[in-house]
Amino acid sequence: MKSYMAAVIGAGPAGATAARRLAEAGISVILLEKARMPRVKPCGGALTHRALGLLPDGYQAQLKSHPTDWTFQGRRGQAVTVIRTDPYCHVVERQFFDLFLSEAAERAGAAVHDQEAVVRLSVGSGAVTLDTDHDQYNVRYVVAADGAHGMAARAVRFPRPLNGAAIEAEVPVDQSLRDRYRRRVEIHVGSYPWGYAWVIPRHDILNIGVGSFRPHTFPLKRRFFEFVEAITGTADVRPLAYPLPYRLRFVAPVAGPVLFAGDAAGYMDAFSAEGIYSALRSGHLAAQAITAAAESGHPLSQYSSALYEEFWPSLKSAIKMGLLFYPLAGYWSDVFTQSPDLLSDYLDVAMGALPYNELRRHTEMRLLKNPQLLTAHRQHRRGPGQ
Ligand SMILES: Cc1cc2nc3c(=O)[nH]c(=O)nc-3n(C[C@H](O)[C@H](O)[C@H](O)COP(=O)(O)OP(=O)(O)OC[C@H]3O[C@@H](n4cnc5c(N)ncnc54)[C@H](O)[C@@H]3O)c2cc1C
Repeated sequence: MKSYMAAVIGAGPAGATAARRLAEAGISVILLEKARMPRVKPCGGALTHRALGLLPDGYQAQLKSHPTDWTFQGRRGQAVTVIRTDPYCHVVERQFFDLFLSEAAERAGAAVHDQEAVVRLSVGSGAVTLDTDHDQYNVRYVVAADGAHGMAARAVRFPRPLNGAAIEAEVPVDQSLRDRYRRRVEIHVGSYPWGYAWVIPRHDILNIGVGSFRPHTFPLKRRFFEFVEAITGTADVRPLAYPLPYRLRFVAPVAGPVLFAGDAAGYMDAFSAEGIYSALRSGHLAAQAITAAAESGHPLSQYSSALYEEFWPSLKSAIKMGLLFYPLAGYWSDVFTQSPDLLSDYLDVAMGALPYNELRRHTEMRLLKNPQLLTAHRQHRRGPGQ
């Protein structure tokens, strides 16, 4: 049996970041990843500005496109485009971005083992035993960053988040579509209950997808194929589907010596489905808490307090924004397409220039000015997954 101070399960953005930060702090750490790296992760790969500050040196080479234009299309096909001078997001290719993050962890001193799945996690007194498909490890702390399908939650009975779902494909496109989407992200709402469809450009491919926080309320797959065909003229693509884990209530992401991070913790933005930032930031905070526990005996509950104080207020605003927007998304798509200022607010949120609750406040003000809409909204308002 091999021993480390900490083990991290899963080499996505959450796990690779936690492993890097632990190694940088001088903690002996092993990062275990079941897939062979680089591995595919269904994802649009859009990084908001706040995520950039959490990346290791040299990340710039991973940013493959820099959209400045944001087109928002409503239920009747009406569209409005907000154009910024600075990119409002940056797009990475997830398989190589995640490889870059795990290589940075390795350079910092973490032991990185891909193609090694954790199959059992047993918490004993003062130690955790991890059985993988070809070894056994004894550690003091575990970061469970094993994503939406992870086994760690089952092992320690960590409450599962709610699951939305998204389906996407990477579609190689010709020059005219490339030119059309060179600097533009497109979002379509109104026809996808509790969700939206997107087009995100990355060099010579378009990432095209449909996601929903209530995926069982409509034929997600069929709508996806229709959408791809409407954008590219062909539905001959190979789609990938994956959950969107999110929560409507805060659950402490700590179970004894096991800290949950990223999708495994379930702290995705329940309005936009942005998850990479939460994954990176929770990876940082989990590493910080373990370092403080190992060096100074601080309680691991510090991690829970940090998540609660630092990003639960914003995630809560995202939930409220979702509850405000999605029940009447068709109507809101009319309002938003007539109100580029609201769209612009949304981009400001993505760029970190405006707190979420301001966007929500501006949207609520529109609702209050319209009594009929307010009544309709009250009738429709039921939480996703409830
Ligand atoms: C279609 C789609 C589009 C999205 N687009 C965006 C976007 O544009 N921008 C954005 O911010 N977010 C987006 N998201 C969300 C984002 O992809 C996730 O929130 C993010 O990947 C979470 O990172 P993570 O490190 O927590 O988990 P993951 O990236 O899922 O990594 C978990 C890792 O754990 C490994 N693992 C699992 N079990 C084990 C085990 N037993 N042993 C060892 N390893 C294990 C897995 O192989 C995997 O590599 C999207 C999600 C979907 C589904």
